[in-house]
Amino acid sequence: MSENAPRLTPMYRQYLEIKKEYPDALLFYRMGDFYELFFDDAETAARELQLALTSRSRDEGGVPMCGVPWHSAETYISQLVEKGFKVAVCDQMEDPKQARGLVKRGVTRVVTGGTALDDANLEAKAHTYLGAFCWDEAAGAGGFAWLDVSTGAWTGLQSSREEELRQWALKMAPRELLVPDRDEVPLSFSTTPGIQLVRLPYRSHFELPQAKERVLAAQHVQEAAALGLEKSPQLMQACGALIAYLEQMQKQDPAQLAPFRPLEKGRYLILDEITERNLELFFRMDGKRGAGTLWSVMDHTRTPMGGRLLEERMRCPWRRLEPIVRTQEAVEFFLARKDVRKALREALRGVYDMERLSTRIALNRCQPRDFAALKESLRSLPAVLDALTLPEGDRLSTEDDRRGEALPEAVRHIVKKWDGLDDMADLLTRALRDDLPPQITEGGLFRQGYSEELDELLDLVEHGESRLQALLQEEQKKNAMPRLKLGYNHVFGYYFELSRAQQTSPIPEYFQRRQSLVNSDRFTTPALQELEDKMLTASERRKSLEYRLYQELRVTMAEARPRLTAAAEALALLDFWQSLAHAAEKNGWSKPELYEGADLSLRQGRHPSVEAVVGRSAFIPNDLVMDESRRLVLITGPNMAGKSTVLRQTAIIVIMAQMGSFVPASEARIGLVDRIFSRVGASDNLAQGQSTFMVEMMETARILRQAGRRSLVILDEIGRGTSTFDGLALAWAVVEELSRRAGGGIRTLFATHYHELTGLANTLPGVCNMNIAIREWNGDIVFLRRLIPGPADRSYGIEVARLAGVPSSVVQRAREILSQLEAARGKARVAKLEAAVLPGLDIRPASRPEPAPAPAPRAEEHPLLDALRAVDPDAMTPMEALKLLSDWKTLWGRPPASPENKK
Ligand code: ADP
Ligand code: MG
Repeated sequence: MSENAPRLTPMYRQYLEIKKEYPDALLFYRMGDFYELFFDDAETAARELQLALTSRSRDEGGVPMCGVPWHSAETYISQLVEKGFKVAVCDQMEDPKQARGLVKRGVTRVVTGGTALDDANLEAKAHTYLGAFCWDEAAGAGGFAWLDVSTGAWTGLQSSREEELRQWALKMAPRELLVPDRDEVPLSFSTTPGIQLVRLPYRSHFELPQAKERVLAAQHVQEAAALGLEKSPQLMQACGALIAYLEQMQKQDPAQLAPFRPLEKGRYLILDEITERNLELFFRMDGKRGAGTLWSVMDHTRTPMGGRLLEERMRCPWRRLEPIVRTQEAVEFFLARKDVRKALREALRGVYDMERLSTRIALNRCQPRDFAALKESLRSLPAVLDALTLPEGDRLSTEDDRRGEALPEAVRHIVKKWDGLDDMADLLTRALRDDLPPQITEGGLFRQGYSEELDELLDLVEHGESRLQALLQEEQKKNAMPRLKLGYNHVFGYYFELSRAQQTSPIPEYFQRRQSLVNSDRFTTPALQELEDKMLTASERRKSLEYRLYQELRVTMAEARPRLTAAAEALALLDFWQSLAHAAEKNGWSKPELYEGADLSLRQGRHPSVEAVVGRSAFIPNDLVMDESRRLVLITGPNMAGKSTVLRQTAIIVIMAQMGSFVPASEARIGLVDRIFSRVGASDNLAQGQSTFMVEMMETARILRQAGRRSLVILDEIGRGTSTFDGLALAWAVVEELSRRAGGGIRTLFATHYHELTGLANTLPGVCNMNIAIREWNGDIVFLRRLIPGPADRSYGIEVARLAGVPSSVVQRAREILSQLEAARGKARVAKLEAAVLPGLDIRPASRPEPAPAPAPRAEEHPLLDALRAVDPDAMTPMEALKLLSDWKTLWGRPPASPENKK
């Protein structure tokens, strides 16, 4: 390209000058009615958007280009942003008609995934976040902040543990994550799909003094303390980076920002991202939304705001009793008062995304349809209030009803401070036509009667001709010149014409002769002149007046933003509650009891989303009690028995309960949980491509470090990702540790196919066995899906294989092999396993003061065990060990000659 540079036209020079500032964005360059892209941008856009790639005149060196009409640019921009591109929109900064020389141009906004405002780039019922992460190694502290640009809601946290911040970043999964370019970025960020890393210069975006200045200015406060940021410099830095980036992208003040509040972790039940994934809260294991997720069962919201609140609650349920109980009361009310719920759901139908609408309006990024949607929404508000204050039964409405006296506290609170925004609704209704044009520039926005001036101009534009005719008739009559005619030409514009033959009476003085033809004269009059002037400029004036009125209306609405967002918040809550009530009714859920304590008991618990898939009647409910003597429940049972389901349903019920929702159990008593950890042993996660044993162990390590007395730990087949003995040994040690921690054990559900672990119930306090019942019938097994006390008697792997259709010859052979193996092991049970299975490994906890005495050799015990107990592998060379093994093989390696194995 450089060899072409001298030949570039001024336009290209301007283009390249601007493009230089946005190397990583696709530049949409406005030319007339099109946005054009050039060079590489053109090739990329043509490929991604299926546009025709052309090339500009030869003297430009055949520059590749493509373009989109300006009025449909949003659609194309959305598509590109959806695909992960950044788009810089470069507009004409002056009227091309008035420009002398090249039209001034400049970038008016940059659209990115994390800063998008258009509905096309946003999920209605999910937040889209822009995040910023900053870790200060020297200070040993960092901050992570996240912002929903479309609503202005933002928060963040400061921590001295980088891992904690990282977990939050992964959990909130911002579409774009801002990080300082000088720092190394945690691998997990760059490898998580859906998160785009944006490396920004530390100095310009993250440095503390500027960051602080930016944040305080954007929030209109004097002190960091007003935002709760006085002791969180790193979080301040992250916040500053968010604002800097946002300002750069929006090219204006971040008018949408709500007041910042740091996240109070203590208020929420913490679910890390892996737990969210394992429990399939929002996405299924295959990464998709839809049936099978908790969300799909719970979401009965009618508005985007309600949907986003439900998302927020599901992502961060409560940790404390008070908000849970308040929510339960509201849900109970909407459940009992079907009439209210029905009317409310109906009223909410007309409510659009008031939060995002008001953001677009505040930022002047709105279209006429946004006003239409806002108008509709505001006009639905009276029906919402009416629904809430419906009198009960057939009673006539009383003053108390209208004041909401009978409502539960949370709902009453909303009724009490209700702002129906009538004035705004009236204004919009008075101002706007019912059928609005797609673009403001086309005009046609305002209703007749809204502005006299506009009405006059509209009349001129639409009825100019008939007004001319009226004037003509007036002159004909007044001056008795019935043959007076009206004409038009380019030179004189409109004129009256009268033939000589008709000029019998004197021509009035105000008729000014303009032109004399052979047989006639042409005149103008002041009235005609004035009308003509008005007509000629009416169209232009109307456009600019309409634009001005539009902006005035926009500013009025923008100023009402706090009221709009307060209303949106109230609607979100109502919607959230009615959705919980609706789901409870549809699915037969009941109200759980929550309390400060560490027990948990569920009667007839069900897995809400599995139940939704297999059907209510096909799902077998289960009871589960976790208390002092049953802190850690080991669940055994064959594959497919339902272990994972029981584990997950327990965690999900806790989550639902702490959201304030009713739960799929006939009775639930839940000691408040502060964190839920859910981990699945390697092979269940194969589809996600991260089944390495290493990951599994890192996760386990984290649980052991972080779980506390109030936590709930769900471990599903942990240890499966390695060889049997390794896995068993690790699983064993993990159970021991969890049963010992936090002064009496951490509530843990542990599903395992390591049958050997079931013996731990005898030796460790607080550990108990449960299994999922099956029945053997005619050599087949029948899954009963019932959780019962005690260990499974064996693992039934072969029966499951048979059920799965493994050929009977293979099944038969497997049975033979199994019986030989079992015999060889001498039916070693757990107590013996300590010696038999794990030679050299002292698996009795070292810290236990009185080690359980080694079981005395009993008569039927195999002599190998004794021999094993005698060896000390630490003191042996590999050669000696091998020799010993070979001796044992000679001694005892033959199949035993016990009677049961003779057949
Ligand atoms: P496991 O973990 O023991 O191998 P899962 O929990 O994965 O078994 O359950 C296997 C299948 O059995 C599930 O996909 C589900 O369809 C069904 N299932 C599990 N529990 C129940 C239940 N309580 N009622 C009905 N079907 C169930
Ligand atoms: Mg399983």
